[in-house]
Amino acid sequence: MYVSTRSKARPVRASQAIFEGIAPDGGLYTPVDLGEKRLEAETVLSLSAEEIWVRTLSCLLDDYSEEELRGIVREGYRGKFETEDLTPTVKVGDSWVLELFRGPTCAFKDLALSLLPRLITRAREKVGSGEQVMILTATSGDTGKAALKGFEDVEGTSIAVFYPHGGVSDVQKAQMVTQTGHNVRVCAVKGNFDDAQTGVKSIFAHEQANGWAREKGVRLSSANSINLGRLAPQVAYYYKAYADLARSGAIQVGEKVDFVVPTGNFGDILAGEFARRMGLPVGRLVCASNANRVLTDFIRTGTYDRRREFHKTLSPSMDILVSSNLERYLFLASGMDTDLVADMMKRLREDGIYTAPESVMREMKARFWAGCAGDAQTLDTIGRVYKETGYLMDTHTAVAWRVMEEYRREAGDGRKTVVLSTASPFKFPAAVLKALGQSEPADGFAAMEALEKYTGIRAPEPLRTLKAMPVRHRDVTEKDGMLGYIQNLI
Ligand SMILES: *Cc1c(COP(=O)(O)O)cnc(C)c1O
Repeated sequence: MYVSTRSKARPVRASQAIFEGIAPDGGLYTPVDLGEKRLEAETVLSLSAEEIWVRTLSCLLDDYSEEELRGIVREGYRGKFETEDLTPTVKVGDSWVLELFRGPTCAFKDLALSLLPRLITRAREKVGSGEQVMILTATSGDTGKAALKGFEDVEGTSIAVFYPHGGVSDVQKAQMVTQTGHNVRVCAVKGNFDDAQTGVKSIFAHEQANGWAREKGVRLSSANSINLGRLAPQVAYYYKAYADLARSGAIQVGEKVDFVVPTGNFGDILAGEFARRMGLPVGRLVCASNANRVLTDFIRTGTYDRRREFHKTLSPSMDILVSSNLERYLFLASGMDTDLVADMMKRLREDGIYTAPESVMREMKARFWAGCAGDAQTLDTIGRVYKETGYLMDTHTAVAWRVMEEYRREAGDGRKTVVLSTASPFKFPAAVLKALGQSEPADGFAAMEALEKYTGIRAPEPLRTLKAMPVRHRDVTEKDGMLGYIQNLI
């Protein structure tokens, strides 16, 4: 059963939670009995990657059968990833990199967004709704494309993606504005990611907007990581990485492993906490931020303060000051104190700041460690790791790598560390080239080719073919025009 983080009054099944996206009170649906849904590490050792997904999802999504999930995983993943393995774990130096970017849009969000449309269409049948589902999504760059790709031409659904104007890389933008499909829309917002996300959240909370939708037989829903259907598929790769380490003999089964996660909206790292609560031997979850270090400060001090300058960085998918999924963690760490969570979220909305109780922070500090890296450190890390090991990483992964080094120096306890790699370096080729000491070409595509030439590594196929694709989407809106934009679409 799932309840909203802001009130336990109305528990729902997984399908309802996925269908709705966000709870009517503005809270996020979260499982109340994670500890009872145990999945032992031993169990997954002998399983294929797909089957690890099936087992994990089946623990988390109570009213989807294993057979049903097997079908969803097969349709969503098979033939769409570079390897059957889905998410390879690669040894780099004396650490491991969990490569989550081998999917159709070259970012880790593919793992969840290849399944979400199918989870939603099934959910629609389960809750007995005849409504069309209209997905609204704000993106800091990668969610947008992965969601567009996932929902492209999926029967009974449509999708509108908002991205910050000038706030995404050339390649990310090209990926979105060239998206095909009869049911997709893409629109730039004159603002930053938080503006776009706030805009989308306020449309969901807007009674009139939901009214317009209802009249047309449309249900508004979300593909952002506030949707439970986004979170659940992410739990599986923690199991997969653990199995890879155990199978290669790098760890004994039962040995704890630390995971270092480049973090923005706190969804990816929260999935690691779910895995831990389900029984995976997770040591520390290390939360890595860029110059937008609101989570670093929160985890260190207990005060969340979004009233600060927003930095556009070289790791744009982490340029976030309001990390939505932290709300789910606060709910879990406070022993499901929904009044407390509702109050903190109200503070955040109204004052831009809140302080979590001692007890919550004690729990959090026992599980998490936090650090951050600026752009200069990010570039230095890419260059250094490439020189020392030959491994080429993107800017987001580099933030995590850098924070891992700091963690090991200052707080590590000798456990094996896995760094989650969330994007292909070819998605951010200009920055990566610069990190390698090369001059930056005029645009992202020239940079991609130059990076291929310099490293001898071939860019992923979906990125190589982008340049030749026609632009299909040119819409731009002011921040306060988002509601009107959606009204016209419904
Ligand atoms: C979305 C994203 C992140 C941040 O993940 P969250 O779940 O929002 O914390 C990090 N890196 C890349 C490349 C991303 O696309």
